[in-house]
Amino acid sequence: MTKPVRVRFAPSPTGGLHLGGVRTVLYNYLFARQHGGQFILRIEDTDQTRFVPGAEDYIFNCLAWCGLVPDESVQRPGAVGPYRQSERKEMYHQYAHRLVEQGDAYYAFDTPAELEQMRERFKTAENPSPTYNQHTRQHMRNSLHMELEAARELIAEGTPYVVRIKMPDDETIRFTDMIRGEVSFHSSQVDDKVLLKADGMPTYHLAVVVDDYLMQITHAFRGEEWLSSAPVHLRLWQQLGWTDHMPQWAHLPLIMGPDGAKLSKRHGNKYGFPIFAMNWTDPVKNEFTEGFRERGFLPEAFVNLLALLGWNDGSGQEIMTLDEMVSRFSMERVHSAGAQFDFEKAKWYNHEWIKRSSAQRLLPDVKAVLQQRGLQPTATDEQLASIIDLVKERCTLLPDFYEQLAYFFAAPARIDLDSISGKWNEQKTLFFAELIRSYELLPYWQSTDLEHSFKEIAAANHLKPGELMLPFRIMLVGGKFGPGVFDIAQHIGQADTIGRIRLTLGLLGPAH
Ligand code: GLU
Repeated sequence: MTKPVRVRFAPSPTGGLHLGGVRTVLYNYLFARQHGGQFILRIEDTDQTRFVPGAEDYIFNCLAWCGLVPDESVQRPGAVGPYRQSERKEMYHQYAHRLVEQGDAYYAFDTPAELEQMRERFKTAENPSPTYNQHTRQHMRNSLHMELEAARELIAEGTPYVVRIKMPDDETIRFTDMIRGEVSFHSSQVDDKVLLKADGMPTYHLAVVVDDYLMQITHAFRGEEWLSSAPVHLRLWQQLGWTDHMPQWAHLPLIMGPDGAKLSKRHGNKYGFPIFAMNWTDPVKNEFTEGFRERGFLPEAFVNLLALLGWNDGSGQEIMTLDEMVSRFSMERVHSAGAQFDFEKAKWYNHEWIKRSSAQRLLPDVKAVLQQRGLQPTATDEQLASIIDLVKERCTLLPDFYEQLAYFFAAPARIDLDSISGKWNEQKTLFFAELIRSYELLPYWQSTDLEHSFKEIAAANHLKPGELMLPFRIMLVGGKFGPGVFDIAQHIGQADTIGRIRLTLGLLGPAH
């Protein structure tokens, strides 16, 4: 019987979530949903020196915004908790000691000064930073050259110690990655990593293996930067006797910036685009990084563009809902080469999503944008929704709704008179004066009637309507933008339309 799928995202609460992190979440989520499995979020906070207050809340808020809520987490505990590694501290000890007992790990008592001496002593031109490994371990202070009893006595006396893995001298370590296929390492290339630290906390290496086992994880998807740790983890799975339970791994390719280097905050600053999901201010470094949410991306667009950064279903379709992605996703179709992030393309996704979203869907976001800019629209939700439908094609990011909507509720602050005055003449003044009279008498205020009267008066005055529409538009909205001008007039209403024509006629002064 196949085991139920259980995947996990295991962030360290050291900062905000960037594109790569959220993409890992997304691939986990898609895979879990597709297989009717569970998506677990585990907080990997064993490195207390890197802990950043607020980062954990940020991660949860960010996943909530993206709509990728884990099935089990600190916030929604399941049967295999706790879901924060610092609260599981004691659980790891027995495994570390078991490995020592078996001879697959050892106690090491070296002081920082001794470690430094070792690095100095074995430094060569080819190997400028020697590590603790099969060549150096015999020169160090560890339980490999003493009776285990003697080592335990030292520990009982309170001598600080760590537990290190003893990597085999000459073995090839292999596994099959879901994206990369067969991957192998030679054990001599891998150092004796610390498993248990002097403060009693496990390192990531021990904790990730123990927790993936205890939490019954079936598939582990993580960034490519962890590939080099895979042999240590494989060895631990073997030596703890859990190989049959080992998850299938996929190491996800990096996301690159426009210059081909690994995407980083530096790219965001240099090119002026966000790389974090939501705004994040690091309270320790006091550093601000901009987010996609605040730039005005819809979460639907954000997860869509992320999914396609390194994956496609082969059909050429780029715009997909989360449900479509769930049914089409496959880890085998994730490219092994890095994906290049293109901000213009990201904006394209958002524009497409705004165009396809219903006005009802957009309404709360648009209201928030207007409110932020201090505009309280005097319109019912229904009226606002019909205006949103009129202008949404013209909005790439949510803040664009402000420019496209503000003139519906308040006369434009600035009117681009220069674009009118060059071709202005008395005939046009007379036309608009007559238009005002006609509009004042209209019993219904409908765009079709407005257009009809407009064209009739133009024809009667031997004027081309095309030459009058641009001035009319500028009178109403302030510039050369917006949807159909009669639709705008309909929504602005009779009094305001007439008022704005009068206002501009006044500004243009008497025609010569
Ligand atoms: N804590 C690791 C990180 O911050 C998790 C790596 C993994 O998923 O194994 O990325």
